[in-house]
Amino acid sequence: MAKESATSVSSEEKSAGAPKKARGQVYILQERCKGCGYCVEFCPLGVLVMSSRFNAKGYHYPEVAHAEKCSGCDLCGMYCPDFSIHGARRPTKE
Ligand code: SF4
Ligand code: SF4
Repeated sequence: MAKESATSVSSEEKSAGAPKKARGQVYILQERCKGCGYCVEFCPLGVLVMSSRFNAKGYHYPEVAHAEKCSGCDLCGMYCPDFSIHGARRPTKE
C-alpha cells in the first residue's frame, strides 16, 4: 500500500515538472472591439490584458499576455458583446 502511494506522488511530481502546452487558443478581432474589457475581467485564467494601443475606432482592445494558460473555454467569447474574441480548444493528439 505504501509503495502504491509513493508511486502516485512520484507520477504527479513528474507531470508537474513537465513543460506546459496551452490547451486552447484565443482569437481577437481588434478592429471590431469596443474596449469594454469584459473579456479581460471574465477570463478565469488571466490570459488577457487591455492593450495600451488603440484600434481605428479609438478603443483599447485586448491582447494575449499569457497564451500558455489559455484553456480554450471561450468565456471571453461568450461575454463579448461585439463578437470580437473567441477561444477554442486545441485538438489533442492521442
Ligand atoms: S469583450 Fe469584446 S468588445 Fe469588450 S474588450 Fe473584449 S474583445 Fe473588446
Ligand atoms: S478561451 Fe477561456 S482561458 Fe482562453 S482567453 Fe478566453 S476566457 Fe481566457
